[in-house]
Amino acid sequence: MPTFTSDLAESLAGEALERFERYVRIDTQAAREPTGSPSTPGQLALGRLLVGELTEIGIADATLDDNGYVTATLPATGDAPMPTVGLIAHLDVSPDAPAEGVEPLVHLSYDGGVIGLPNGGTVLDPAAMPALVGKVGEDIVTSSGDTLLGADDKAGVAEIMTAVAHLAAHPELPRPNLRIAFTPDEEIGLGASHFDVEAFGASCAYTIDGSTIGELQDETFTGAEAIITIEGVDVHPGFATGKLVNAARLASRIVAELPADRLSPETTSGRDGFIHVYEVSGNAATAQIRAIVRDFDDDLLAAHAALLREIAERVVGEEPTAKLEFELNPQYPNMRRYIDPVPEVVEIAERALRAEGLEPIRNPIRGGTDGSMLSAMGLPTPNLFAGGHEFHSVREWISVQDMAAAAAVIVRLAAEWVTPAG
Ligand SMILES: [Zn+2]
Repeated sequence: MPTFTSDLAESLAGEALERFERYVRIDTQAAREPTGSPSTPGQLALGRLLVGELTEIGIADATLDDNGYVTATLPATGDAPMPTVGLIAHLDVSPDAPAEGVEPLVHLSYDGGVIGLPNGGTVLDPAAMPALVGKVGEDIVTSSGDTLLGADDKAGVAEIMTAVAHLAAHPELPRPNLRIAFTPDEEIGLGASHFDVEAFGASCAYTIDGSTIGELQDETFTGAEAIITIEGVDVHPGFATGKLVNAARLASRIVAELPADRLSPETTSGRDGFIHVYEVSGNAATAQIRAIVRDFDDDLLAAHAALLREIAERVVGEEPTAKLEFELNPQYPNMRRYIDPVPEVVEIAERALRAEGLEPIRNPIRGGTDGSMLSAMGLPTPNLFAGGHEFHSVREWISVQDMAAAAAVIVRLAAEWVTPAG
């Protein structure tokens, strides 16, 4: 027997699944080297579909702008002044796995065993996926095995749409003014770049873009990117004695001198930050190292960046004719400092989770979300679970029951915003 978190969740499950299956079939994969916003036309196709569906729900102002942002308003009922709260999910899917021709498969009443998918030899093995172990009896949605599924973040889109349709059909349910935004290009870090916070007009918002049921996150990494460029002295190797300075060798030495037992993504977890070298390129004449630097604490992040710089300066400094350029670009801030001053935003979300019978899970995100940038732009935006797992891979999956729970949490969130804390 599938187990739902509530009767409300059970009543929303069919619609959430139906919407989800429709949205994932549209290829909205973001492009890593964008030439415009959105980076791919598929995102506009999904945006147009959603505007049509929002209009059908009865929302008068649903629009898709030229940059690929869908916005809409579900006004509060009654005449009393109400707060304005945002609900946000992203339209695009990751460039890390194939996204064309997604064929969602529903595995009814999961029996706890290995789920084999028809294509690509892909299997979901509970031995390797602890999150799957607790899902016996639930309905699991996967791709057909050779594409991603797109639960990140079409689950969030489907859950917001389902909750908003429910609220629109039930004006007797309490709600604030709800502002909805579906954003493009989150996966390439650009989801907030054309977001007009002032026009959105909400005092706070929630991204529905987390994973495990019950998650509520108000803390992300602070992120920066380091680009190290080394100019060597390239001389024909036959005449190189005493002259050649090989940039590729210097780059390799810098990478080799980074600590191997700490400060890397593979040796850290929880609240520890890291330096992650994700690309090394070059030749004898010139070489480049690209790395991302992450920490929850800005001082520690600065220390990691300083360590990287010190190693690069020392290694390259041993060759007086070599040149070094060290560039450090901020990427996104830890959202927490912007959310801490408005604690009710998180408290109300906790109440909504508890109203759905869920204990809030409060782990910091080892990454960034659109909410990191939006919070810094003046729209405090923590993140709520959407239910998907194994993001950005052909093994991506989501439970229908978790999707229904997320939609129900959004309905309860609306109620909690206009209900005094008890
Ligand atoms: Zn996402």
